[in-house]
Amino acid sequence: MSTLDVPKPDFMRDEELAIFENSVIKFFEEHAPPERVDQWREDGQVERAFWTEAGQAGILGVSIPEEYGGGGGDFRHDTILLEQVARMDVAGFGVSLHNCIVTPYVLAHGTEEQKQRWLPRLCNGELVAAVAMSEPGAGSDLQAIRTTALKDGNGYRINGAKTFISSGQNADFIVVVAKTDPSQGARGVSLVVVETEQAEGFHRGRKLDKIGLDAADTSELFFDDVFVPADNLLGMEEGRGFKQLMQELPRERLTIALGSAIRAELAVATTIDYTTNRKVFGQRVIDFQNSQFKLAEMKTQATIARVFVNHCLGLLLKGQLDTTTVSMAKYWITEVENKIIDEGLQLHGGYGYMNEYPIARMYRDARISRIFGGSNEIMKVLIARTLES
Ligand SMILES: Cc1cc2nc3c(=O)[nH]c(=O)nc-3n(C[C@H](O)[C@H](O)[C@H](O)COP(=O)(O)OP(=O)(O)OC[C@H]3O[C@@H](n4cnc5c(N)ncnc54)[C@H](O)[C@@H]3O)c2cc1C
Repeated sequence: MSTLDVPKPDFMRDEELAIFENSVIKFFEEHAPPERVDQWREDGQVERAFWTEAGQAGILGVSIPEEYGGGGGDFRHDTILLEQVARMDVAGFGVSLHNCIVTPYVLAHGTEEQKQRWLPRLCNGELVAAVAMSEPGAGSDLQAIRTTALKDGNGYRINGAKTFISSGQNADFIVVVAKTDPSQGARGVSLVVVETEQAEGFHRGRKLDKIGLDAADTSELFFDDVFVPADNLLGMEEGRGFKQLMQELPRERLTIALGSAIRAELAVATTIDYTTNRKVFGQRVIDFQNSQFKLAEMKTQATIARVFVNHCLGLLLKGQLDTTTVSMAKYWITEVENKIIDEGLQLHGGYGYMNEYPIARMYRDARISRIFGGSNEIMKVLIARTLES
């Protein structure tokens, strides 16, 4: 049930999508019951076996063509999946990264041979994907990366250290952003795939201790003279890495905005629920005019976020989502998510600070949305570039 009065956009009304949605709900009900997810939170990592189960159930690669082992759907299927990940509280399962970010790199930029080699295994859960861009000394400023992938015989030798890598412990398919020509700036950057099973010299570092997203394994990765065959250069042409990353950014940023819009809505719902049931000074918290005004503001903001995200989804499906619009969505909706959750927590009083209440975890989990996938400051830099054009 939705707390908002935003009608489903026409492109989401489809019987096949409804069937898919039911299968996703059933999968999470059966395979991700609350006690299992709680264990993942405690372990700081989703069980690797769950990825295999998801692959077998057709949850991975839903928008990858069937000829490559995928579900043959499109971004609407991923939208449904992400919505259910949030609604069914499977936070930490890095399926948005796997399905909406890394696997599409292979589909869009891989050669035919690479697509056939990797996509079926990414879709059936044999491979869990990660992308390693950030380094201790380079996050927003990606051109400053120091990791190199230098030609050596019939392949490349990778050297460097990455940090903050989502799915870092579980991943066995890592797209590494590296300099194949350190003398060049952006034009010297390439995307090189490391399949960890065969990668001598590859080490996983610490599973980082975060303030939120407890079940997500965010890690350091080290590459010490790791050899990969030349066939692992995505697209088989050096120096195209930056362009390849840039082309995929609108979908990646929309994925973040979409997740934030969904969680904003859930925060409104859980706060309405709590304030209706909690009594203070002989009346329900929701009966105070301040609570009503706050909830009215929260609902309004969540509604605007949802309408804007739907607009962006429509553009993406038509291949028309541009960098400026999606930067606005990523920046504004993630800010709104954080604001709504903060106000919602306030209306919970001290209980809002207790992890057993959903709003508390939402508060911790939401903070990263404003930072990763390009920080909101970078989003504003991108929007500002268009002011005088
Ligand atoms: C939980 C989590 C998961 C992540 N997952 C991944 C992953 O899977 N793969 C990956 O490669 N990375 C990942 N990251 C890294 C993330 O993308 C970076 O943290 C982010 O891009 C910011 O880089 P930074 O941390 O180095 O901050 P910095 O770049 O050092 O920025 C510090 C501050 O300066 C601001 N700033 C930077 N440049 C400008 C500018 N031009 N104008 C104004 N302000 C500016 C930033 O907005 C920020 O507020 C993850 C991070 C976290 C915390």
